[in-house]
Amino acid sequence: MSGRVSPGFSGPFLSAVILALIPAAGFPETVPEPSSHDRAVQAETYVNARLVVWQQRLNLQDWKISIVMSHPSDLKPKTLGNIHWDADKKSAVIRVLDSSDYRLPFREMLEDMEFTVVHELIHLELSSLPRSEASRRDEEHAVNQIADALLKLDRKK
Ligand SMILES: [Zn+2]
Repeated sequence: MSGRVSPGFSGPFLSAVILALIPAAGFPETVPEPSSHDRAVQAETYVNARLVVWQQRLNLQDWKISIVMSHPSDLKPKTLGNIHWDADKKSAVIRVLDSSDYRLPFREMLEDMEFTVVHELIHLELSSLPRSEASRRDEEHAVNQIADALLKLDRKK
């Protein structure tokens, strides 16, 4: 398995607080924040749609991959997601932090969730490589850099 480590778990909460302090009048008209139930439903639909896209792009269509929205109690401390796979069955489960545990505006939350999905898929892509306790940190760093580059390309359009 492999998890997505948050560089600072208080980060999303802090930025949400800072945003809340900026007077709303300075912003162009924005879409109202959905209710927490709608947030959850839309987030799950969104991450599953993005999973299909990134699974194809990373040529992982022969894997059966599902997403489970998860609370911090189901994740390792200071992580935003993880992936467990069975190489023989070619099946994997990606855990993504549940929307109710996010303290980010809706749009930023979706983008962060997508980052987790891409991050975990890259781990899956690398899963056939040899791995040791010593290489884990380096893998984590490399996976973050690649996910960041892919998402920047994707969002440039
Ligand atoms: Zn990771």
